[in-house]
Amino acid sequence: MKIQNYINGEFVNPISKDWLDNYNPVKGEIYGQIPNSTKEDIEKAVQAAEQAFPIWSNTTLEERSKILSKIADLILENLEELAKGESIDNGKPISLAKQVDIPRAAANFQFFANAITQFSSESHESVGFDAINFTLRQPLGVVGCISPWNLPLYLFTWKIAPAIAAGNCVVAKPSEVTPMTAHLLGDICTKAGLPKGVLNIVHGLGKTTGKAIVSHPKIKAISFTGGTKTGAEIAKIAAPMFKKISLELGGKNPNIIFADCDYENMLETTVRSSFANQGQICLCGSRILVEEKIYDKFKTDFIKKVSELKVGNPSDSTTDIGALVSKQHLEKVKSYIDNAEEYGGKILFGGKKVNVKNHEKGYYLQPTIIEVTDNNCKLNQQEIFGPIVTIMSFITDEEALKLANDVKYGLSATLWTNNLNRTMQFSKQLQTGIVWVNTWMLRDLRTPFGGAKESGVGREGGFEALRFFTEAKNICIKHD
Ligand code: NAD
Repeated sequence: MKIQNYINGEFVNPISKDWLDNYNPVKGEIYGQIPNSTKEDIEKAVQAAEQAFPIWSNTTLEERSKILSKIADLILENLEELAKGESIDNGKPISLAKQVDIPRAAANFQFFANAITQFSSESHESVGFDAINFTLRQPLGVVGCISPWNLPLYLFTWKIAPAIAAGNCVVAKPSEVTPMTAHLLGDICTKAGLPKGVLNIVHGLGKTTGKAIVSHPKIKAISFTGGTKTGAEIAKIAAPMFKKISLELGGKNPNIIFADCDYENMLETTVRSSFANQGQICLCGSRILVEEKIYDKFKTDFIKKVSELKVGNPSDSTTDIGALVSKQHLEKVKSYIDNAEEYGGKILFGGKKVNVKNHEKGYYLQPTIIEVTDNNCKLNQQEIFGPIVTIMSFITDEEALKLANDVKYGLSATLWTNNLNRTMQFSKQLQTGIVWVNTWMLRDLRTPFGGAKESGVGREGGFEALRFFTEAKNICIKHD
């Protein structure tokens, strides 16, 4: 199948007529092509967005809200097709796509359909000066949204929905590895009545198409989710143009387990936080730190539970772990396993490729548990972003906190304890944007989302996202 760009409400071929092969990770075969878009395609998309902006930015909030709600409804009406597309494109279990990814994409639109009608600006009376101040929150104009492959539609829409809700027009690029559901979204937006040019979807490689979006002088802001290295490259290009940037980047998140926790709940959630989506979620707790008192018991129980996970064809509803997203990614993840000893670890479970019947060329890997003793080893310092977790023990609270913070990343942390004082101490001192206590990946869309240190700049979610996609202007009126 040939996926086209969606520009000015129409599906069009790339100007260069150049296409890239797209692989199906489930079978390890080519299953389609996407445009290898160039600067010229981006120019066309920017022009369409610029043209749509005066009308869209003056469309009433009720009308914008109605269209966003309609997009949400249509995503849910097309859940089966979208989930199938996401699963084939990404390799994730279809059950996960049906239960999480696609409903969340709909929720993103529904959330911002409501949020924009509640988004109000402040006013201040300057007492003693006979002046009143109010703040206008104006859309920026044309903005760029660039997303990764791990949660394709979920993260793509998490950016697009607030951007258009706030009155901007968008040039968006999904990952070249997972273009399918972004492509289907174009059609849904047309059917929902989104005016032409408000959303333009351009496909292609990061270093060319993505870079052309970031470099375009008329694109006022870049909302990016992806790797830390790419985030730094984007910041470098955007800085001299004074673009607003929001960067959601990599993670190496600690999952800190104390002996006083609710053990069964912790164990079950830890299996999920380690291996959901093949461990390819930026929030996965890839470093498990366990209080020494329960370390041996945890090790035994965790290995047992993980050994029960079924690796297999993602379209089978009983599959727990599907395929990794690409051959290159499989090889990268596998290299950490092959070099585990040199990188400071001992494999306790897994580590092997899995042959799935009739899908022998697919990219399947066992969930893998590696024991480490030194937090400074590569396995604990580098983001692997696959079905690999490390486990190590600690004795004191101070030691656990030090280990948790001793990485360059700072996206999220999970804490398992029933001690309130400990909860407060860790919540305050963990150097991350998110702390979950006795749960994982529970997301209330009103809350700020993002990372500290090399995990990012800025916050998405709730009014934070609407603030990012608007310029605040102070109006000060002197009166008698
Ligand atoms: P990536 O950085 O390689 O690519 C992300 C997107 O950026 C893709 O669309 C890609 O085409 C584009 N891109 C690549 N180079 C570019 C450039 N120079 N200029 C502009 N665009 C460019 O990341 P990935 O491999 O797709 O995704 C995995 C990474 O994403 C992991 O590091 C993961 O932690 C991170 N991630 C972070 C979050 C978060 O919320 N913090 C969420 C999901 C994934």
